[in-house]
Amino acid sequence: MNKHVRVRFAPSPTGPLHIGGLRTALYNFLFARKHQGTFVLRIEDTDRSRYVPGAEEYIINSLEWCGLIPDESPDRGGDFGPYRQSERKEHYAGFARELVENGHAYYAFDTPEELEKARKRLHNDKGIPFQYNAFTRPQMKNSLTMSEEETTALLASQAPFVVRLKVPENEKVELHDLIRGIVTVRTEEIDDKILMKSDGMPTYHMANVVDDHLMQITHVIRGEEWLPSTPLHVLIYQYLGWENTMPEFAHLPLLLKPEGKGKLSKRDGLKHGYPVFPLEWDDPQSGETLTGFKESGYLPDAFINFLALLGWNPGTEQEIFSLEELSQAFSIDRIGKGGAKFDINKAKWFNQQYLKIKSTQELAGYLNASLTSEGVEFPGDKAGQVADVMRDRITFPDDIWLKGQFFLKQPAEYNEKVVREKWTRENVQVLSDYAGALTKLETVSEEKAKGTLEAILELNKVAIGKVMQALRVALTGEGGGPDLMRIISILGPSECSNRLRTAIEILDDHVKD
Ligand code: GLU
Repeated sequence: MNKHVRVRFAPSPTGPLHIGGLRTALYNFLFARKHQGTFVLRIEDTDRSRYVPGAEEYIINSLEWCGLIPDESPDRGGDFGPYRQSERKEHYAGFARELVENGHAYYAFDTPEELEKARKRLHNDKGIPFQYNAFTRPQMKNSLTMSEEETTALLASQAPFVVRLKVPENEKVELHDLIRGIVTVRTEEIDDKILMKSDGMPTYHMANVVDDHLMQITHVIRGEEWLPSTPLHVLIYQYLGWENTMPEFAHLPLLLKPEGKGKLSKRDGLKHGYPVFPLEWDDPQSGETLTGFKESGYLPDAFINFLALLGWNPGTEQEIFSLEELSQAFSIDRIGKGGAKFDINKAKWFNQQYLKIKSTQELAGYLNASLTSEGVEFPGDKAGQVADVMRDRITFPDDIWLKGQFFLKQPAEYNEKVVREKWTRENVQVLSDYAGALTKLETVSEEKAKGTLEAILELNKVAIGKVMQALRVALTGEGGGPDLMRIISILGPSECSNRLRTAIEILDDHVKD
């Protein structure tokens, strides 16, 4: 690629950013990094009726959490600012006027009532819904049906008006999509979309094209839902004489529900209890709280890795990629055309892989954070040891605490099944002897814990396989878990012998011959 790549992520602050939107941001980011280009964040906030306070901040925080820091944005600025469309008003009206002057757009004065009437009238006559287009515009109130004097007078009288694109009859619009190939649309399928609204604000279409041009965007990478708008955008580029610098387009496949049918929605998340938003969001309108990947315990690097592979594949078996590696490997031609199925279990799998390779210190940090919020203290340097034992068994950082509570607390209950099957007189004798042996020790290594146990087993003539589960249940309350000798060495000999004695006492009624 010769020219300097400039891509943009252009969300509208109409609510929290869905992970589909975040994936769009990610692909733009990766594409920019891959080509040493520039990643722009542009806030498309021209529709004031849909503006939701806090949404822009949410978008910025989400990008930041994922490490997708824009090179140019409302916060950071840049040479092509401002980066909020509501602050760029003066750019749009001039181009709309140019379109009117060169005959590719017109002023329309139809009131909402008149439009409603036309909708009814023209719907009834033809049986198809009303569209403002080459066929109906001659019957409407606009600068094409009125004399120049009338139009000038109306404009001078401050009568409300919109500017509409004059979409020609009977032409073909062709565009090349980097993912879908050639897309051809007939102009009959496009209506005379409003470019400027009566409040003087541009519509999405107008602002989007003008800004992509002024910001020298080279590639528009966005969701598939925008593909139907693209032919219209192509016409605007042509009519403004910007065809030669028109960006290339890539429309990303949808994120689908886990079942594979239909778009993944907020409702899916609420129904199944998994997040579909990067960060938690308190909806100011409904009062609902939507859960976020962050607050649910997903690590940003794992989340990004998961998201990158929802629609793109590297063409190899490799699954684990850092952001840097993704930036190297990414290419638009490996984005699939079909929708990508969302699978929360895959997200969990990535989280597990990323937790596994964390340093002991980082894992201990997670454990300490859980302990602080639980108001529990951990003696000495055991947090690191516990974290290390648990690393292969956790999906989320707070699982170290949730699944490893036995390191801090005596069992409150004992696994019933294990007690029923393994709490034999013979085993209890071994456990009692073991407790006695442990009391004599100051500390106990894994080897020492094992050696001591083996000596007792030999004296009692009991096979190790018979007693292990009883020992585990007495120490942890559970039927399974990490290596028992490691647990013993972490708990220490006196804590272990206390626990064994307590279990023997509490479970006295359950001993079987
Ligand atoms: N503002 C549009 C959105 O909210 C941007 C679409 C585009 O990238 O052109 O998704």
